[in-house]
Amino acid sequence: MSYVFHRMPKKTLPVAVSGDGIEIIDSNGKRYIDASGGAAVSCLGHSDRRVVEAIEAQARQLAYAHTSFFTTEAAEALAERLVTTAPAGIGHAYFVSGGSEAIEAALKLARQYFVEIGQPRRKHFIARRQSYHGNTLGALAIGGNAWRREPFLPLLIEAHHVSPCYAYRDQLPGESEEAYAQRLADELEKTILELGPDTVAAFVAETVGGATVGAVPPVRGYFRKVREVCDKYGVLLILDEVMCGMGRTGHLYACEADDVAPDLMTIAKGLGAGYQPIGATLVSDRIYDAIVAGSGFFQHGHTYIGHATACAAALAVQRAIDEENLLANVKTRGEQLRAMLRERFGSHPHVGDVRGRGLFVGVEFVLDRDSKAPFDPQCKLNAFIKQEAMARGLMVYPMGGTIDGKRGDHVLLAPPFICTADDIDRIADRLADAVDAALVAAGASTTVRG
Ligand code: PLP
Repeated sequence: MSYVFHRMPKKTLPVAVSGDGIEIIDSNGKRYIDASGGAAVSCLGHSDRRVVEAIEAQARQLAYAHTSFFTTEAAEALAERLVTTAPAGIGHAYFVSGGSEAIEAALKLARQYFVEIGQPRRKHFIARRQSYHGNTLGALAIGGNAWRREPFLPLLIEAHHVSPCYAYRDQLPGESEEAYAQRLADELEKTILELGPDTVAAFVAETVGGATVGAVPPVRGYFRKVREVCDKYGVLLILDEVMCGMGRTGHLYACEADDVAPDLMTIAKGLGAGYQPIGATLVSDRIYDAIVAGSGFFQHGHTYIGHATACAAALAVQRAIDEENLLANVKTRGEQLRAMLRERFGSHPHVGDVRGRGLFVGVEFVLDRDSKAPFDPQCKLNAFIKQEAMARGLMVYPMGGTIDGKRGDHVLLAPPFICTADDIDRIADRLADAVDAALVAAGASTTVRG
């Protein structure tokens, strides 16, 4: 009996009691390697003393001061750090408490910007199918996760969706990356033209597709072409790096690898590494200046924006990443993880694709490798993988609906940046075991190797 309204009330969950490096320990003493960082959050593992000490120090000095009365040193220092390392044009950080709030702020900033500059007809948002931008109503509306949206459709603001950049499934045989990227940019342009170019506010995309599609990096040149289309029609580019940002891909900002700078960018998860709930909307000077010169304030806000203790924690996280040169480790260990998974799953009849960037890795499962046909969703393969992985002391982030919200299964891996080579070995071993056990449990045993 629990008084907590859990996500899955019928499931009995282990009780997490402590953290030790990359592991979480439950009340029975069982250890779980956190190979998904929860949901790509815990980039420093679960027992970083520097972050805990920073939280203690800030809470002792001043835990919280409402942002309509004060600013704080922690918020100022964090904003400076983020902005000075951000892509070109980004000049300010608006702090919130998580990813969905960061997206809500980005959508409202985009809208208010156009009101301020005398283009009030711009109200449409275009995003991509198979995306996830959060669960609040605005974020859910622009998100392209059909399953999550379905029950709430009557409540959602109008949003428009184009194809994701999902090479494994959608790049045509013989089509070059360049041609595929162009086809997607053309689709975006066509949608803008259909809606009326002077009515479109922004295009929103995860730089590297995350929870819905399973760590799918864009093909080379995709975002440059997208940027060109946006610029041609005065449409803002909002990059959602809530999951893939803050070092997860081996770059502090994932879009560095794509040589593109957005007008607005959302970050969260790894920003505070789970030690405190925090997110941010990073804002270009052009938008900030227009709002300051116009009405003079952003017509938005929540009680906990700019929370001093959360900012102090995030600052300590970002310093730790720098001090230990962890982004280099993310790149090396990420390559190791993908290589090991390709080795273990290279001839596996039910693994179609191993992909990702840095320590942001996806494995997509198929019934048949040649046709890429997915498993029957009734098999609930992804749920069995989670169950079998947990039984083996491994946390991963499996999901169904990879292809269209209903069909397809993948597992997302997002281990802490502090992983060693040995940790990566253990993760790959346990996952390989868990996948084979799950395939048996899901009723696909006859085709499993060995
Ligand atoms: N955007 C992306 C890309 C995400 O992956 C998520 C969460 O998984 C969100 C937004 C929403 O973040 P939160 O769950 O912190 O509200």
